[in-house]
Amino acid sequence: MERGYPPIDMIHSLRNIWHKAWTSVFVEMNDQETRWLLFRHEHIALLEKRRTTLIVSRVRLVAALFALLTPLWILVDIAAFSREVWLPLVVARIAATLAFALITLLTIRMRNMADAYHILAMLFLVPMAFFLYSYQHMAQFELNGVQQAFSTGYAFLPFVMLAGLSVFPLTLAENMAFVVPLLLLQVVAGAMRMPVLDWSTLAVSFWLTLLIAGVSVLAGLSQLAFIIVLVRETIRDNMTGCFSRQSGEELLDLQFVISRRSDCSLTAAFIDIDHFKNVNDNFGHEAGDLLLIGVVKAIQDHLRMGDMLIRWGGEEFVLILPNTTPAMACVALQRLRRKGLGTRPDGAPITASIGIAERIHDEVTDWRQLIEKSDARMYEAKQSGRDRVVGCCCDQGAHG
Ligand code: GH3
Ligand code: MG
Ligand code: MG
Repeated sequence: MERGYPPIDMIHSLRNIWHKAWTSVFVEMNDQETRWLLFRHEHIALLEKRRTTLIVSRVRLVAALFALLTPLWILVDIAAFSREVWLPLVVARIAATLAFALITLLTIRMRNMADAYHILAMLFLVPMAFFLYSYQHMAQFELNGVQQAFSTGYAFLPFVMLAGLSVFPLTLAENMAFVVPLLLLQVVAGAMRMPVLDWSTLAVSFWLTLLIAGVSVLAGLSQLAFIIVLVRETIRDNMTGCFSRQSGEELLDLQFVISRRSDCSLTAAFIDIDHFKNVNDNFGHEAGDLLLIGVVKAIQDHLRMGDMLIRWGGEEFVLILPNTTPAMACVALQRLRRKGLGTRPDGAPITASIGIAERIHDEVTDWRQLIEKSDARMYEAKQSGRDRVVGCCCDQGAHG
């Protein structure tokens, strides 16, 4: 084997080890999906959507739980401490309860990952602020044995927060964004208690924090891995590997909202293979299946980043082209037709009838109308002789 420059060899080996380690822990995941565990920037829209729903609903659950539990502890504070200790604590608890209730209400309108980040950050900021305040407040008093025990309970809050991180399906980078501030919080709290606590106690508590953080991050990553595999299995059509009808409808919904919000074009092309039934009838169902797989590959080889191909049903496909005007879509589809969709078992070229519709040009108000328009134009293409693209500005025939 040819050998490279030693540092490059080493980087290569380390990358292999890293990859093997991850794929053996998170079985069933491919290279790209393993990268999705680390960072969010390559995540596909449907994964983002599922993750947003999950994170937001869990934030709501945790916030609601804390909104109920935080005031309950007021009775314990009053019973355990003198008035000058408990009064500020009770005020802080009421403020935290209101903040948790507010978070519960805010989650009702959360839609995207940016919203999810904000609400998750709020969920962590409230107990952090409560912890810092209560910790420094209690540090001012000489507490007796039982009171000391109750005040220690407050010191556990960062551990609870770190453990709580494990219920969210976050990437490694996102986990770090929460873990690092929590570790710093532990350092600040330790510094505040320096006159009372010794170094070894602080070191043990920091070590414990690190361990809990490690376990929580792993738990969060394995949740994310589970969602990634689940999303992949539900979004793909088993035979052809393109998007299934169900996930396709979700994608269309999402793309329609994005295109309306950013006032960009959104084109849909309805593609129906011509005389496909003949292939089944003359060469068998299996030959038909192989033809479909080949057609999908030919289309996919031709797609731009961001274009999406959906198997709408049988031998019908919908191609979603974001940020694409009808004229641009027309050029792309005519180029695809010239390149060809493959050959039928008898050697004849595979042809398709295609209908194009565009959100702004066709003045449609939802994605269903967009599909109906493109479907109707596909039907027109069939009626006018097949093997052609119909829609908007490109109503030309087979050789147009
Ligand atoms: P046209 O040019 O008018 O579109 O004719 P066509 O024969 O393509 O249209 P039609 O809708 O009559 O036929 C579609 C056929 O596709 C009928 C169905 O048996 C077949 N089909 C649907 N799903 C599959 C599949 O997954 N595999 C195979 N092999 N055939 C399928
Ligand atoms: Mg059909
Ligand atoms: Mg057909």
